[in-house]
Amino acid sequence: MDLYEYQGKQYFARFGIPVSPGGVADTVDEAVSQAEKAGYPVVIKAQVKVGGRGKAGGVKLAADQDEVRLHAGNILGLDIKGHVVKRLWVEHASDIAKEYYASFTLDRPAKLHLGMLSAEGGVEIEEVAQTNPDAIAKIHVDPVAGLSEEVAREWVDRADLDPEAREQAATLLVRLYHCYTEGDCDLAEINPLILTPEGQVHALDAKVTLDENASFRHPEWEEFAAAETEVDPREKMAKEKGLNYIGLSGDVGIIANGAGLAMSTLDVVTQVGGQAANFLDIGGGANADVMAAALEVINADPAVKSILVNIFGGITRVDEVAKGIIEAMGRVELNSPVVMRLDGTNAEAGRALLADHLSEALIAEPTMLDAARRAVALAKA
Ligand code: GDP
Ligand code: MN
Repeated sequence: MDLYEYQGKQYFARFGIPVSPGGVADTVDEAVSQAEKAGYPVVIKAQVKVGGRGKAGGVKLAADQDEVRLHAGNILGLDIKGHVVKRLWVEHASDIAKEYYASFTLDRPAKLHLGMLSAEGGVEIEEVAQTNPDAIAKIHVDPVAGLSEEVAREWVDRADLDPEAREQAATLLVRLYHCYTEGDCDLAEINPLILTPEGQVHALDAKVTLDENASFRHPEWEEFAAAETEVDPREKMAKEKGLNYIGLSGDVGIIANGAGLAMSTLDVVTQVGGQAANFLDIGGGANADVMAAALEVINADPAVKSILVNIFGGITRVDEVAKGIIEAMGRVELNSPVVMRLDGTNAEAGRALLADHLSEALIAEPTMLDAARRAVALAKA
């Protein structure tokens, strides 16, 4: 799960990483009251989960109330790379002497954490990596050993940060490492990490991706998810039903058991000239409850014109799946025809069970290709 900047800053603050005081605003009036609280000058920042907000006009300085009204009004509703701004973060503006870059992420091939630090922050790190790779000081951290202040200091020296920033930066980086590890992040990035003319080092931006595999030990993450303003309503519904669902822009709804089979189904639908409305892996136990939930979610998508059910039985027995489909069809009133391809363990028994239920609304095809062709044809009809 990606966090908004303001959530990332709240997360940073929990681990003692210094950030500017501020608050969120969903309206121009709220922006003004947050600005009064934070103290002028302030910076008004679009809260969207995409980088490069500054360049897109989503980050503006405001010296007084009139400027807050002007900029907040312009930024709310702004479309930044397809993300419409619904929320602002208003914080006390900082004076900037230097902009640095700092991040932690996992280096999978090395099986170690990777820290990146650069005295050339503020711009996109990919750009620095291309034009001046030597300006990025990397460090590998063994998760068992962790990151000591001493090692962090050497790292900061290597990155050639300004001398007056080094001590604070080393302390901050150890905290960022704790945020990344104990906080179960896939990514914890600060760009820019700034040095102020007064000699203070703090985080001016926050990009945090939480590792959702660890959500069981972070009940506090619920509030981050609850604040999501950009979710696809289909995905929200699917999540509530415990399904592994991703919404797409086509008109053929897809249900498959297993992520690999679901991916192949998307490919076959595309191959025969169609477009999938979603990715949906119903996993191993394709019983009536799961099948009904899957059909409900797909049925709720007005773009869907046909539904392709692609099941390859393994441990999951196709006769059980067939019972699930029959029961689910009884529970859910469908707007689109269902085309099935059932194969694998007990496929014969499954098809036999379904034989009496076949109609124009429930069609069986012998192979995945046939089923995909039929579903695509029905979607276009
Ligand atoms: P991004 O463009 O989405 O990465 O948004 P950032 O939060 O990194 O802001 C973009 C740029 O705006 C920063 O690199 C700064 O140059 C500038 N900026 C952000 N906050 C402040 C601030 O408090 N004071 C000043 N002077 N500039 C700021
Ligand atoms: Mn940034």
